[in-house]
Amino acid sequence: MTAQPSSKARTVMLPPALTVKELGDRLGVSPVEIIKRLMTHGVMAAINQSIDFDTAAIVSTDLGFEVGPEAPAPATEPVATEAEEAPDEPASLKPRPPVVTILGHVDHGKTSLLDAIRKTRVAAGEAGGITQHVGAYQVQREGKLITFIDTPGHAAFTAMRARGAQATDIAVLVVAADDGVMPQTVEAINHVLAAGVPMIVAINKMDLPGANPDRVKQQLTEHNVVVEDYGGDVLAVPVSATKGQGIDDLLESINLVAEIAELTANPDRPASAVVIEAELDASRGPIATLLVQRGTLRQGDALVVGEISGKVKAMFDDRGERLREAGPSRPVVVMGLEAVPEAGDRVRVVTDEREARQIVDLRRRTREGREQTDHAHVNLDTLFHEISAGKLKELIIVLKADVRGSAEAIRGALEQLSTSEVKVKIIHAATGSVSDSDVMLAEASNGIILAFNTRVDPSAKKRAEAAGVEIRSYSIIYQLLEDIEKALAGMYEPVFATVVDGHAEVRQVFKSSRLGQIAGCYVVDGTLRRGSQVRVLRKGQELARGRCEGLKRFQDDVREVQTGYECGVVVSNFDKYQEGDVIEFFHDERVR
Ligand code: GDP
Repeated sequence: MTAQPSSKARTVMLPPALTVKELGDRLGVSPVEIIKRLMTHGVMAAINQSIDFDTAAIVSTDLGFEVGPEAPAPATEPVATEAEEAPDEPASLKPRPPVVTILGHVDHGKTSLLDAIRKTRVAAGEAGGITQHVGAYQVQREGKLITFIDTPGHAAFTAMRARGAQATDIAVLVVAADDGVMPQTVEAINHVLAAGVPMIVAINKMDLPGANPDRVKQQLTEHNVVVEDYGGDVLAVPVSATKGQGIDDLLESINLVAEIAELTANPDRPASAVVIEAELDASRGPIATLLVQRGTLRQGDALVVGEISGKVKAMFDDRGERLREAGPSRPVVVMGLEAVPEAGDRVRVVTDEREARQIVDLRRRTREGREQTDHAHVNLDTLFHEISAGKLKELIIVLKADVRGSAEAIRGALEQLSTSEVKVKIIHAATGSVSDSDVMLAEASNGIILAFNTRVDPSAKKRAEAAGVEIRSYSIIYQLLEDIEKALAGMYEPVFATVVDGHAEVRQVFKSSRLGQIAGCYVVDGTLRRGSQVRVLRKGQELARGRCEGLKRFQDDVREVQTGYECGVVVSNFDKYQEGDVIEFFHDERVR
């Protein structure tokens, strides 16, 4: 989009909000110039950050533009349909199966465990059928269904979360009994903790001679996962995925945790769902596996997924069986979308296909505005605003460092920076370069990334830029800490500047039986006010600070005295005035 020049002055029409970059584009000015201008007005903004109309108008005026508000888009859209979904009445909520994701270090047996669990339904006498990988499946234990997300690992888990989809109810952390806690185990733990999802530990490969479950439990404790044997509340289940041992215990544990979590949803409403995975099938068109989260999805329903509309033309379960409807926590394969959505996209059922198309159209047109407001991500420059708006109580940090020693040292020092107002929370500290998964974690948790003496993977860098996640690189610990400390100081301690209101010179000292010593003064400049803060200066040196307790013109108490007049001044906690002393009147003003 470009500036819209009028015949005379250069005029630009601005929306209620736009990014620095977009403003630059509209004005035909480099974004750096815009950032500089903003700084002169005390506004720190990054290139992809959104600024409001007023701020944009000030900068545009500075640059010689006339500014007007952009006409709103014609209001023919069914605006009401984009409103937030109504919350469900408590009475409408029914229990629903838990949705489980399996995470853990590579080769610890995630895929094998998912296979072993899937096999239980054949063992349980359910129709086996040919199961194809569709991204999620369900099994039953003692009549209770459990849904498993069939894409193991925290990358998928956190990618969903980064897109705003909370698909998982319970995380199963797989740790190989012979190998113990490894770097990706720690990463998975931190991703799960950041998501606030309950965890169950599956200690796998128990069949191996080198299996040492106690060592695993001990190592987990070091990473804040305390299993029951060690006095914590995390269930740990020994299993062997390849031998199929302990699988039933694991399912039982999942049902136990699910029971405590009291998972419910209202099945009697139009469905909302989340995309688990999707692909383009050469003969059948876009195929998406959806996980129904609320309501019931039915054949023929009109759908909106992001900017894609569609209709449930056909629906299948994970065994390829045709379905007519699917309730909460059920994974279904759906045909009939117009394009391939992305994993983590949210799906809504709307009245009909016409409405679906209207909504998609509206979303396309308002995409930019929505992206700017929805994806405004925390960064050190804007922390203060977030905090003062009451939006942020924690500074979430993902920390990557070259060696373990520095990661631990920095983590400790950062945590010390917490105050009662703002908590510094390091949700993941590890060695190695900054990866995609780190960026996703920071994105999903609205945090920043600190890289100490380590590089940033190119793909992670790209991802961070796209998502607006801040990555700060340092090679000196002290500088890293100072930056964070400064950002925090800006957060809870507004900056005050001293503003001098005037000066009075002491010409004579009087004694009053009632007030004690009174400084007889001449107002050299400014205006003196009673109650003001003052400091007494002798030969330029500060002698005392206090408050102006009394201000007199002759015998009368007055509220203020102007330049060129004489007056009597009484300062709290000080009375040793001498001729020639200067009393400075000042106040503190908030500058940010
Ligand atoms: P993933 O990378 O976590 O998905 O791990 P996989 O499921 O691919 O398993 C990695 C390797 O460990 C494979 O060779 C599996 O056969 C083996 N494995 C998995 N579970 C077990 C187990 O319970 N016992 C033994 N002995 N090997 C296992």
